[in-house]
Amino acid sequence: MVAVMSRIKTEEQADAYKTALAQYDRATQHLKDVSEDIIEYMRYPRREFAVNFPVRRDNGMVEVFTGYRVHHNTVLGPSKGGIRYSPHVTLDEVRALAMWMTWKCALVNLPYGGAKGGVVVNPQELSQGELERLTRRYASELIPLINPQMDIPAPDMGTNSQVMAWIMDTYSMTMGYSVPAVVTGKPIPIGGSEGRTEATGRGVIICMMEALKQHGEVDADKISVAIQGFGNVGSNAARYAQEMGFKVVAVSDITGGIYNPNGLDIPAVIEHARATGSVQNFPEAENITNSELLTVECDVLIPAAMENQITAANAHEVRARYVIEGANGPTTPEADDILNDHGVFLVPDVLANAGGVIVSYFEWVQDLQSFFWDQDEVYRQLRRIMVKAYDFTLATAEKYKLDMRTAAQVGAIERVAAAIKMRGFYP
Ligand code: GLU
Repeated sequence: MVAVMSRIKTEEQADAYKTALAQYDRATQHLKDVSEDIIEYMRYPRREFAVNFPVRRDNGMVEVFTGYRVHHNTVLGPSKGGIRYSPHVTLDEVRALAMWMTWKCALVNLPYGGAKGGVVVNPQELSQGELERLTRRYASELIPLINPQMDIPAPDMGTNSQVMAWIMDTYSMTMGYSVPAVVTGKPIPIGGSEGRTEATGRGVIICMMEALKQHGEVDADKISVAIQGFGNVGSNAARYAQEMGFKVVAVSDITGGIYNPNGLDIPAVIEHARATGSVQNFPEAENITNSELLTVECDVLIPAAMENQITAANAHEVRARYVIEGANGPTTPEADDILNDHGVFLVPDVLANAGGVIVSYFEWVQDLQSFFWDQDEVYRQLRRIMVKAYDFTLATAEKYKLDMRTAAQVGAIERVAAAIKMRGFYP
C-alpha cells in the first residue's frame, strides 16, 4: 500500500515540473532576441528551501513533517506565491508552481517574482490545534526567507485565511511588532483585502467573458459551463458565472461531480456541499465522476482542481469549445496540442487564474500604506488589470502567430528577460 502511494506521488511530481519545463522550452524557441545565457538562467529556481520539523499531535506523539519554499525568480521584485498543504506536495511540484508564479506575475505586470511553498500533509486529517502548531512551526522555519520586501506567501490548495493569520502572527511575534504585509489572503480585520477570497474565481470568469466576446458569443444564457474542482477557485467561479447569467451545468469536488443540462443552482450546491461534505447526491442532478466532468457536453470547461487533469489520454474526448484554466498546470503539453488540433480555444492558467495574486498585490499595497480600499475599488482594479493582461496576451499571440498558452509564456518571459538584461549579471 505505502509503496504504491509513493510511486503515484513520484509520477505526479515529475509531471508538473516536466510540464512547466516543456512549456518554457516551447516558448523560448520564439524568443529570438533573448540571449542563450538569460534563457538558461531563467530555467532554474533561484533558491530552494527544504525543512523537516516536529509537530506535537493531540495524542501527545510527535510527528515530523516536510515543507518547502522555492523562490524561482526575483528580478522584478519580491517573490510571491501561495503555500499548499497536500499529501502530494513534492519539491518538483513546488518548483513548477514557483516557475508559473514568475510568469503569472510578469504577465499581469505586477512588481513581483515567483515563489511557492508546500507542506506534505493532508490538512483534513489534523485538528485545528494541530494545524495551528504545524503552521506556526513551518512559518518560524521560513523566517529567514519571508518578509514584505523579500517573499510574501499567500493561500493555495489546502490553506486559507486562518492559516495566513497564524503565519502573520508568528512572524509578527518574532519581530516584536505587527507586520501584516508579510503575507496576503489574511482575514480582513487584520489587514486582509476586500475581494481577496473570491478574486481568483472572479478573474477566471472575467477571462472567460473576454474569450467569448472575442469570438462574438455575447449571450450568456446560451453558454453552458462545467467546472472541475469546488474549492475556493471553482466554487467562486461557479457562483460568479451564474451571477453573470451563464448556465453552470456541472461541478465536481474530490468525491465526484454532478450534472444537470438545464443548469445547477450554485448557492444551493454550495449549501449542500457545506452540509454533506460533498457536491454529490445533489437533488435534481445526476452524479458523475471527475473524469466524466472533463468530457461532459458543455461550451466552456474550467479545470479548477489541480495539475495534469487534461492529458493525452482524455484530451480528444473534451467536448467544450473553450478551456479556461482555473488551476495551475491542469493541461499537459501533449493535451495542449490535441486541444489545439480540435480548435479548442484555451486561456492558460498564468492568465486565467491570476486574479488571486492580483488582489494579493492590492492587499500588500494596502498593508504597506495602511490605507484600505472598498470592494468596488478592488473589483474595478482587478477587472482593469485582467482585461489588460488578456489583451496583451492576445496581441502577443497575433504578433508571433501563437496559441494563447505559448503567447502568455512568451510575453511573460520576455518581460523577465528584459529586466535581467537591464540589471545585468552580478558581479
Ligand atoms: N496561490 C495563488 C496562485 O497560485 C495565489 C498566490 C498569491 O496570491 O500570492 O496564484
